[in-house]
Amino acid sequence: MVITGGSRGIGRAVCLRFAREGARIIFVHYDPDDLKANETLGLVDKMDVEARARKLDISSFGAVEAFFQEVVGEFQRVDVLVNNAGITRDAFLMRMSEDQWDQALLVNLKGVFNCTKAVVKSMVKERSGRIINISSVIGQIGNIGQSNYAASKAGIIGFTKSVARELATRGITVNAVAPGFINTEMTEKLPDKARETFLAQIPMGRIGEPDEVAEVVYWLASVTTNYITGQVIHVNGGLYM
Ligand code: NAP
Repeated sequence: MVITGGSRGIGRAVCLRFAREGARIIFVHYDPDDLKANETLGLVDKMDVEARARKLDISSFGAVEAFFQEVVGEFQRVDVLVNNAGITRDAFLMRMSEDQWDQALLVNLKGVFNCTKAVVKSMVKERSGRIINISSVIGQIGNIGQSNYAASKAGIIGFTKSVARELATRGITVNAVAPGFINTEMTEKLPDKARETFLAQIPMGRIGEPDEVAEVVYWLASVTTNYITGQVIHVNGGLYM
């Protein structure tokens, strides 16, 4: 399986969940500092599973295409693609710069297009594959200061449903997972007031854990979900119903 953003947070939890089943894992990340990526590799290695990490900017069409050509060249196929990498560039619309808008859309939405397009030909050839895109509850309900992020995550949902329709007869399923408020570095950055506001809206009264998202991603990749495509699975403690 190939996953973007496997160095930390939800992506790392997904790597470990697949490693538990002995899957061969290739993940990409972005930070030139390899510390977090090496931590993930170390954890997977302890489980006696083969994993590789590669520095790759998923917003670069050419670099992504070259990366997947290499992967397919070596392993012949990619069974599962998890489009997980994402960033926030928060600002109120009135103060949002063009660059903040572009960065969020380039990584979160164009990155998903780039990776999916690069992998799909080999999946069609195999007549099998699983594509799982990580959206967000924010793509459904919006959020103050996150119009760029919300647009990118809502875009992922439209993309998922369209590609699911295009690939439905080719043995390939395409689904999205929309996490709520999950305990990772992304949410650590939130000011205390924003955290409290979110928590107050979660019926379960607690923040979610990366493992709880990873479990659903793994389930969507399994053979038991052959007849599920074009869906958005919410993992949010009831924050959005
Ligand atoms: P995170 O801890 O901030 O990790 C983000 C990951 O994306 C890192 O592995 C990072 O790599 C990678 N990445 C960032 N920019 C990249 C690029 N240009 N090319 C390749 N990789 C890149 O995030 P997270 O909280 O685990 O979130 C994972 C996904 O879930 C995101 O799509 C996020 O929007 C979504 N999500 C999260 C929450 C939440 O509450 N945490 C809620 C809803 C949805 P480096 O480590 O190398 O920088």
